[in-house]
Formats: sequence, structure tokens, C-alpha cells
Amino acid sequence: MGDRSRSGLEALLALTDVSRLYYAEGSLYPEQPAPGTLQLPVGWAADLLKNGKLTVGTKTVDTGKGTWSKATARITYNAEHNNHIHIALDITKLPK
Ligand SMILES: [Zn+2]
Repeated sequence: MGDRSRSGLEALLALTDVSRLYYAEGSLYPEQPAPGTLQLPVGWAADLLKNGKLTVGTKTVDTGKGTWSKATARITYNAEHNNHIHIALDITKLPK
């Protein structure tokens, strides 16, 4: 969830046949954290991808990549796509 995700998604966004991408949002994890342990919030995966860092409680993970300029370019983040990239094609560009 970092540089490789960004470059892979950018390669897809560059294709004119691709109208939209759907990608991971990140779900609450774990659902029942042990006392004194951290819980990843809903949206953690998208935050990390978009911002290059994620803060949960007092802990921060920083990829050092900074904010991603393409973060909202035709990408929707949701829980349904936590386990796959969904590529929507522009039907007008497909061979008839
Ligand atoms: Zn999908």
C-alpha cells in the first residue's frame, strides 16, 4: 500500500479506455482489539495511499512519499474493494 500501489494505479489511469477505478478503503481492524492495542479505523488504506502516512492513536506510519496528486482522479475507495482493484472501462472506447 504505497509506492507500488500508486504507480500501478497511475498506469491504469493513463489508459484512455479506463473510465474509473475502485480501490481499497480499509476496514476496522481488528474488530475487537485487545485492551491497550491499536485498532485501524475505517478508511485507513485510502488515507495511507492518499496522504502517504497514517496516524492511529499515538502511532504514525509515514511512507515518506507525501500526498498523492492523483488520489482523487477517477478513483473511488470503498470496503467492497478492499480485496481487489476494480477497473471500469469507457464503453464508448471499446471495439464494437
Ligand atoms: Zn469490484
